[in-house]
Amino acid sequence: MGELPDNNNQEPLIVFTALERAGINEIKKSLLEKGFEQEDVELSVQLADDISKIDSLVFSDGIPISYADSFSEHTAQYHPGSEEENQSELYIIYAKGMSGKIAKGKNIFQFNKNGKLILKNSEGEEGIEITSEELLFGVAAHEVRHRVQKSSDFKKLVSRELPMETDRREKDARMIEFMSMKALHAGKPIEEIAKIIKEKQEK
Ligand SMILES: [Zn+2]
Repeated sequence: MGELPDNNNQEPLIVFTALERAGINEIKKSLLEKGFEQEDVELSVQLADDISKIDSLVFSDGIPISYADSFSEHTAQYHPGSEEENQSELYIIYAKGMSGKIAKGKNIFQFNKNGKLILKNSEGEEGIEITSEELLFGVAAHEVRHRVQKSSDFKKLVSRELPMETDRREKDARMIEFMSMKALHAGKPIEEIAKIIKEKQEK
């Protein structure tokens, strides 16, 4: 969810700004008309709404959230923009196949009784199923964190617990993703979680 898609020159399907949350029904309608599956649309709009809410708590200026027409393994991506290519900073939602991608996440993670995020196949751990809402919120936190990473005074938060992530920015965003899912699961208010996403730094 960190690197730019190879085909990042694709035309976004729909664009609405992070600070304008009105018009969700129109976006849903439009995506359905484009042939997206109902469940993919519901989850994608929820994800966009989460990104929008978190982003507006972290930044004072909203950036567009667009829906990609093509399929991607990713659920969403933050695109830093490029002056040379005259491309603006934005978030991209990959709506196609969203429900399958979320189901995959539900198969990997669960919470233990202490609210710690663990792998689903952890032996001897009694698990609490992670919800789609929690997963989507984690993805949203991850992508907003990538936007936070753009600021020059930002110090990355890296964990040795994530050997599968080689990119330092990815490790940092994954840490924030997990922290945010745990915090939401624990019932922390979104304002408090947004503060973590904005300010958490390596000690
Ligand atoms: Zn990422």
